[in-house]
Amino acid sequence: MICTLCPRLCQAERNEESGSGFCRMGTRAVVARVAPHLWEEPCISGTRGSGTVFFSGCSLGCAYCQNHSISHERLGRRVSDSELAELIRGIVEKGVHNVSFVTGTHFVPAILRALAIYRPPVPVVWNTGGYETPETLRMLEGHVQIYLPDCKHVSPRLGKVLCGAPDYFEYAAPAILEMIRQTGTPQYDADGVMLRGTVIRHLVLPGCTGDSMKVLDWIAAQTPPGTPVSIMRQYTPMPACAIRGMDRRITDAEYERVVRHAADLGLNALIQEKEAAQESYIPDFNMR
Ligand code: SF4
Repeated sequence: MICTLCPRLCQAERNEESGSGFCRMGTRAVVARVAPHLWEEPCISGTRGSGTVFFSGCSLGCAYCQNHSISHERLGRRVSDSELAELIRGIVEKGVHNVSFVTGTHFVPAILRALAIYRPPVPVVWNTGGYETPETLRMLEGHVQIYLPDCKHVSPRLGKVLCGAPDYFEYAAPAILEMIRQTGTPQYDADGVMLRGTVIRHLVLPGCTGDSMKVLDWIAAQTPPGTPVSIMRQYTPMPACAIRGMDRRITDAEYERVVRHAADLGLNALIQEKEAAQESYIPDFNMR
């Protein structure tokens, strides 16, 4: 295929096994981990966990990526569409609340083919960095019930320095609005676990609270009242990230400043406890 699946719009040639685009991936899905995950937001993980399927490679490639070994080193196992369908079936049979595809943008056609083979009886979650095109999101309409997009930063300078994507927000903002259009008002089961909806995630970064507040300002101005916004504090410095200032965790004062701003704006903010800021929350990627 000639690929324009993500905002990189590489128009790169991709065959089943390899690709010459920014993400360097072929068209067959490469999976790094499939396991119940208990550390997402409570409305996603519930009590039985979210059935996460982590894909290898990434079309964004942030320098500080918390899943560096799969996004940058592309560890994982290449699977056929039917093997992917069986992996999905296997995780559903563990009793999870939903199936969550993590960073699947560069594999959308393969994921849709797998869902045509096996349609899970639980909601499908699209866990994404937010760097999406409207065309690719429309391919997912009707197949995804819950979107879990990041809204990382507004500043083109931060987008460029941290993710090599000065146009990050230019794409993420309309992408998030498209996700909300598709899913509508959030719906929950009797235990508060989400059945349908969009949860916007924002990871507070060291020294970047001014931009965090601009992210929240945009959410308050542009998204429907009550849209859940998860303000995450688990930023963990990764050895591979050499950007100045990114070599520390965030302080309590930084997190509290962002949370206070969310409260001032009247956002439906999901707050993360400090204990979540542990490296153990970075999962072990176990598929080879
Ligand atoms: S998915 Fe990969 S090859 Fe396709 S446009 Fe994005 S980075 Fe380029």
